[in-house]
Amino acid sequence: MSFIFVGGWAKRELDIVAFPNSDCPSCKSLGQPHLRVSYTYNHFYHVMCWLDNQRFFLYCDKCAYSEELDPNKAIAAYGEDPIPFIHRYGLLVSIVLLIASIIIFFSFNVK
Ligand SMILES: [Zn+2]
Repeated sequence: MSFIFVGGWAKRELDIVAFPNSDCPSCKSLGQPHLRVSYTYNHFYHVMCWLDNQRFFLYCDKCAYSEELDPNKAIAAYGEDPIPFIHRYGLLVSIVLLIASIIIFFSFNVK
């Protein structure tokens, strides 16, 4: 049986157009700024992932204004975490599933 190690890191950028309750601090266009999320994550087999770095920006297409936001405040304003769950908590879920399957395996194999 061969075993190929597949792991590494990846960088993703999300552009969220419908960022609510925002107007551009520079050109004052209502509803113009986008939320830009730039993050990197590490992974094994693209399933066991954990977040390495996240940066949130308010970006205006009209005047190219850019401002870094506090991640917690940006997530609260958007209403949900725009980073996919698997990229944020994939490793944790994998560990929980592994422990659960070990417990189930041994509970059915006790004589
Ligand atoms: Zn602007």
